[in-house]
Amino acid sequence: MNAPLKTLDLSFSNRPEMSGPVPLAGLTRAQLRDVLIAHDLVDEKKAKMRAEQLWRWIYHYGVTDFDEMTNVSKALRETLKAKFTLARPEITERQVSVDGTRKYLIKLESGIEVETVFIPGVGRSGALCVSSQVGCTLNCTFCHTGTQPLVRNLTAAEIVTQVMIARDDLGEWPTSNEDREITNIVFMGMGEPLYTLDTVSDAIDVISDHEGIAIGRRRITVSTSGVVPKIPELGERTKAMLAISLHATNDALRNELVPLNKKYPIAELMDAIRAYPDLSNAKRVTFEYVMLKGVNDSLAEARALVKLLRGIPSKINLIPFNPWPGSPYECSDWDQIEAFADVVNKAGYASPIRTPRGRDIFAACGQLKSESQKIRASERRRLEREAEEKQDASPEDQTSQA
Ligand code: SAH
Ligand code: SF4
Repeated sequence: MNAPLKTLDLSFSNRPEMSGPVPLAGLTRAQLRDVLIAHDLVDEKKAKMRAEQLWRWIYHYGVTDFDEMTNVSKALRETLKAKFTLARPEITERQVSVDGTRKYLIKLESGIEVETVFIPGVGRSGALCVSSQVGCTLNCTFCHTGTQPLVRNLTAAEIVTQVMIARDDLGEWPTSNEDREITNIVFMGMGEPLYTLDTVSDAIDVISDHEGIAIGRRRITVSTSGVVPKIPELGERTKAMLAISLHATNDALRNELVPLNKKYPIAELMDAIRAYPDLSNAKRVTFEYVMLKGVNDSLAEARALVKLLRGIPSKINLIPFNPWPGSPYECSDWDQIEAFADVVNKAGYASPIRTPRGRDIFAACGQLKSESQKIRASERRRLEREAEEKQDASPEDQTSQA
């Protein structure tokens, strides 16, 4: 029998039109508490204790069935089953590259999909590249996501469930400190994370929690194209590692490649980076620099790069350009990338060339783009109305609404 439907009325969700059992996977501690209280399952005094108990099952053990919660009474498990779900969003496509890279297309709701990529490590570390938005409002000229309009921001839960889905797929539950494949999280998927800092910050709180998924804040990197006013705040709120998509050393070229530069030019960007809390040799900023043939790859630019970063504890990541259908650039020649890297190396930055991964499944940096289309507000309202009408027409649902 279907679980009873209940209209989702939680203030933390930005998907108020959703209905059905409330998903618990991905909620913050506070949200978990609130949801239990809102559904009259516990009084405020007991909510904290009960939320802690569920937290451990959800984020340490990764359970997907309430019956696995062996220290929860059968009666309560039945109630939880009726009101909530531990299901993850559906994976609509899963591809595994010859190099072990895995790409997941995840359906968030009808017609809205997002991509997540697992990049296995060369040694013991592997990174999961998560998305923060479906599409992007910025139009960096070398980026495939940039050709897709912003469909919507993700919720914190939708960011966290990307990690949970990858862990499900890799068999990484319960959380263990040894033999983990996903050791790092990088916000380098679709979207600009600093345009949705509240949700990114909540998601990092959940992912880094020691009693759950437990991926430390120093192993979480947030990449931004340069949303200057939010950069120091990112560090204060999340204590995550910072990556900057620089790609050019002068404003004229950066205006072209990363149009946001017209709003926040390089000098302001550098000031904001210097204000990032706790920078040190142990906590460096990563500068990403995509290698575009004949555009930004001269040795004079390599020297300008080194000069620009002077005084900032930095790492440089040279990213060979990953082409996509119709992309207006070519990747720099390998010799040129090496010569560029040489200048950078001599200035004291080690191993800066990022090996392209998952190219055969189109999962490399900047290649992520979903087919999701922006739903017009009128269309959304029509769908909502239809869903309401359906609900009103179903006798089973009416009893559950009582
Ligand atoms: N919006 C954020 C994070 C997502 S992009 C940002 O721009 O930083 C993640 C990284 O991939 C960025 O450094 C971006 O500049 C880079 N990138 C985008 N398109 C690329 C492409 N086609 N080839 C190589 N790197 C690309
Ligand atoms: Fe958006 Fe980042 Fe792509 Fe620029 S590089 S369009 S900011 S996702």
